[in-house]
Amino acid sequence: MTDFGRFFLPGPTEVRREVLEAMVRPVIGHRGSEMSRILAECDPVLRDLFRTSRPVYVASSSATGLMEASVRNGIRSKALSLVNGAFSKRFRDLVADCGREVETYEVAMGQCHDPEQVFERLRAGGFDAVTAVHSETSTGVLDPLSGIAEAVRRAERETGEEILVLADGVTSVGGAIVESEAWGLDFVLTGSQKAMALPPGLAFGTASARMMARAATLTGRGQYFDLIEYDEFWKKHQTPTTPAVSLIYALAEQCRHIAAEGVDARAERHRAMARRCWDWVMEDGARWGFSLFAPEGCRSPTVTCIGVDGPVAAPEIVARLKAEGWVIGGGYGPLKERTIRIGHMGDHTVDELEALLAAIEEVLG
Ligand SMILES: *Cc1c(COP(=O)(O)O)cnc(C)c1O
Repeated sequence: MTDFGRFFLPGPTEVRREVLEAMVRPVIGHRGSEMSRILAECDPVLRDLFRTSRPVYVASSSATGLMEASVRNGIRSKALSLVNGAFSKRFRDLVADCGREVETYEVAMGQCHDPEQVFERLRAGGFDAVTAVHSETSTGVLDPLSGIAEAVRRAERETGEEILVLADGVTSVGGAIVESEAWGLDFVLTGSQKAMALPPGLAFGTASARMMARAATLTGRGQYFDLIEYDEFWKKHQTPTTPAVSLIYALAEQCRHIAAEGVDARAERHRAMARRCWDWVMEDGARWGFSLFAPEGCRSPTVTCIGVDGPVAAPEIVARLKAEGWVIGGGYGPLKERTIRIGHMGDHTVDELEALLAAIEEVLG
């Protein structure tokens, strides 16, 4: 096992040893008081991470499970889907897969959405939800989520229709401040294996009161991702079906670490890592044809996507680092040949990032 600090994939992210070790405890029954006690202990930390006074549900699935839950429980007939990369496209496709009508507001990979455009499209009427990805992990773009939510509220007033904001916060919650309540987001979800720095396998989501009221009127919520069921069981600090018990031990351990650092300090640490990474790309990266893929003002604090147009091809950089025991992300999908991605999220520090940047300089010579 290598020491902590060499694994910079933009998900799954590196998990600290104490969290991994928490999982070797014996399995317990999920209807007993001990499991309720553990989930109750995690609850205030999860709410702090989502900045909400509402319940945060814990699902045993990857993040896409709760993405599907948000569609089944939150969209009545038609959504506007904001697409600018692989994960926002997945969200859009899911809307159609679940039998809803969907209109796409797409911008090029690497770009972010304009709240004004969101308003313009919604004012035509007929929409009851918007899907958006806060931090598009495939491109390192941070969408202006609070501005988008504000534009949706304006469109609601203009059309007199209720339009829910369904947000994927997979690489933002736990790495950036996501104000679920203050921004008026109706559903926010994340997965365990990104900025929360847990092993893969859990997902977390929070719904507004009006989203829950709508869910109660929708048929076809299914069973596994029925938020009404989640809510019933949450009241007892339980889950509707058998949870991934060992992962919940890991969650409890990580919640103690997150509470000790504080959510604000955690976000600040991510901002510091991002700033260092961007400065390095701009100041030192020119030699190898590096550039920042996301424009200024909409860069994610958790993942930096670097455009590569130099002597060493993007996949070769990833391979050389791997040979030296370092892991970074390759470009996603169509960006494979011309970008690399550094996931500076979870429990990494600026010092660890510094060591990675030095290693990149080393392998590039
Ligand atoms: C990783 C990721 C997902 C998908 O998560 P799974 O846990 O693999 O289902 C969704 N959205 C974003 C932004 C992601 O980074």
